[in-house]
Amino acid sequence: MAKGKINVSVENIFPLIKKFLYSDHEIFLRELISNATDATLKLKHLSTIGEAKVDYGDPKIEVKIDKEGKKLHIIDQGVGMSKEEVEKYINEVAFSGAEEFLEKYKDTAKDSGIIGHFGLGFYSAFMVAEKVEIITKSYVDEESAVHWTCDGSPEFALTEADKKDRGTEIILHIAEDSTEFLEEHRIRELLVKYNKFMPVPIKFGTKEI
Ligand code: ADP
Ligand code: MG
Repeated sequence: MAKGKINVSVENIFPLIKKFLYSDHEIFLRELISNATDATLKLKHLSTIGEAKVDYGDPKIEVKIDKEGKKLHIIDQGVGMSKEEVEKYINEVAFSGAEEFLEKYKDTAKDSGIIGHFGLGFYSAFMVAEKVEIITKSYVDEESAVHWTCDGSPEFALTEADKKDRGTEIILHIAEDSTEFLEEHRIRELLVKYNKFMPVPIKFGTKEI
């Protein structure tokens, strides 16, 4: 009898995740807003228990369309990520930082409202984007901001960035076959459909959702 471990090659699995993770491509926005919400709720929790010494204030999530640049921006004021955290949470597909957080703070955080689970949601961005950028700055003071870029191949670039405020900006370079997601009415429809009752207010255009 032979026993062994099944091997997954990232070159083969990545296109599958990108194209077939969800049958409905539109849910990428729900996933990215969920992550922005989780990041904000994590900061709220950490400041409540005294672990983050920050002015939590009145955080929002902002969604912006850059029609000429064919880009969609999702910006939050949550915990952000250090370089090490990007390497751990983003570069490792199917590792869920949300699950890890709930496990670490299980005594206090079970009612925090954190949504993430499987560590796959972020990659749904590649269903509609040919390139994705992350510009992020951790709430931890001494951490510098980082810039992650990936064009959908399993290779990424990670450099230092200059971002003043804590939090994360996700920039999607919308693919040719997904330009519907550069239309204001389409994005508004999705925000209303999936995110109407989320705990962190979303700013889109001039209205709040
Ligand atoms: P999960 O199921 O954990 O939400 P995702 O693939 O959606 O998995 O995201 C992976 C991890 O990347 C998250 O758990 C989180 O640690 C990190 N992450 C993603 N988006 C953000 C963000 N906007 N701010 C801070 N961390 C983020
Ligand atoms: Mg998620």
